[in-house]
Order: sequence, then C-alpha cells, then structure tokens
Amino acid sequence: MDRQLTLMAVHAHPDDECLSTGGVLARYTAEGIRTVLVTCTNGEQGDGPGGVKPGDDGHDDAAVAERRLAELRESVSVLGIDHLELLGYRDSGMDGWETNNHPDAFANVPVDTAAARLAELMERYRPDVVVTYDETGGSGYFHPDHVQAHRITAAAVEASGVPAKFYYTAIPRSAIKRMFEFMRESGADLGDFQPSDDFGTPDELVTTVVDVAPYVERKLKALMAHESQGENIFLLRMPEETQRQAFSHEAFIRVLSRVDAPDHEDDLFAGLRP
Ligand SMILES: [Zn+2]
Repeated sequence: MDRQLTLMAVHAHPDDECLSTGGVLARYTAEGIRTVLVTCTNGEQGDGPGGVKPGDDGHDDAAVAERRLAELRESVSVLGIDHLELLGYRDSGMDGWETNNHPDAFANVPVDTAAARLAELMERYRPDVVVTYDETGGSGYFHPDHVQAHRITAAAVEASGVPAKFYYTAIPRSAIKRMFEFMRESGADLGDFQPSDDFGTPDELVTTVVDVAPYVERKLKALMAHESQGENIFLLRMPEETQRQAFSHEAFIRVLSRVDAPDHEDDLFAGLRP
C-alpha cells in the first residue's frame, strides 16, 4: 500500500471526541489507520474545580481551559489518537448564555476564517475520511460551537476537496429506544421519562454503523479522563451494562463519497481499502 489511510474527526470541545467517535478513533488507530483529532475550542465554559459553573464567582476561564486541555491530552493518549490539533478558539457556552456574545467566541468567528485553517490541516494530513456533526450540531444538540464546527468542516471539505468520504455523527432513534428499554429491563428507575419520538437521527438517514464493542473499555477510560466535566456526562453515572450497550456501536450519516461504497456499510473506510 502506498500511503496510510487517514481519519480526521472535528469536534467542538475537549470531551466531545469520546461519545460519538471514541470507538472509531480507537478501533481505526488499532488497525493501523492514522487518526487526527481537531478540537476547535479550549472548553473555557466548562465546570471549574469543585463544580463551579461558568458565570459563577470563582470560575476562572483560563484555569478551566488549561485543565480541560490536559484532560484532552490524556483522552487522546487513552484512545491512541496519532495527532491532536487545537484550533484554540474560545468556548461560546451553551445556546443563550451571556458568553455567546463574546467577540472571540468560536461561534462568532467568520466561517471562512476558521474553515481556511481547517482546510490547511486537511491539506497537510490528507484525510481520506472526515467526521463531524450534522447541521444541528449533532442529532439536535444546537450548541453554538457544535453548529459552528459543522459549518467550518463542511466548508473546509468543500474548499480543500481532500477527503474521499465525509460523515456526520448520528444517534439512531432505534438505538435510543433500545437503550431505554434495556435500562428499564435492568431495573433502572426512569420514572415516567420517555425519550421523545423526534430525539435522535431517523434510522433511514443512517448509512454506517461501526462495531466498536472491543473498544468500549477504552472509550469509557477516555471519557473518565475528562474528570472535571464528569457531572455533565450522564453516561458515566449509568450501570456498566448500560454503558456497554450504549457504547458498542457508533453510527454515521455519509454525506459525500467519491468512491464506490454500499448504501449501508459497517466501515467508514469501505471502498478505500486496498
Ligand atoms: Zn461539546
């Protein structure tokens, strides 16, 4: 084989790499594929030490960013990711927060400006496959930084023309349903909680489901590396069997392919392997 296949995942904050792509990053690295993680912001608007919330007294943006970037490096090492690239933008905070108005917030950076930097990275690493969120920032999440990550990635994919395949992360509705059924059966007290029917990605849009069951342990370990945000990571509080069930597969929507690949595939690199 002439050159190493390369996967690039573009995420908004430190910790986002774990849930939707931790398994594929770990699996493809283990298979000898080169993996590149691009994290757009420093995560300044995460929780501070002792769970101090952004905007509260004692929340030190710079210290939170430093801690989260250290956690990110730990997660990258757990997953085995080959290259970490930080765009270094300022975390915009959740939709509606005062911090959305900060002139340097990632969401306020002109798309072309940030996309040009990402396109440069695509030209340097020549990823065959690029993964990021859909236009809602990932299955209806609407965090301004996730929406912006989508915008700049789509623009960079188009401008660079580098990747042969381009994907959005997905949480299939059927998988969400199965997870809640599983939790109920295993005795979890969910009260009357029922995921709404329009939560998650309609199954008919999902093109790609990758089995990452052997990497669940590693994915959990990477998630736990983001200890300072543990309170926000609801899956860390679930019983182990639920985590295993929820983490064993990762799903994607293929939005671009310059190679022949089946309509439904179990490999992001289908059609690209020698
Ligand atoms: Zn995020």
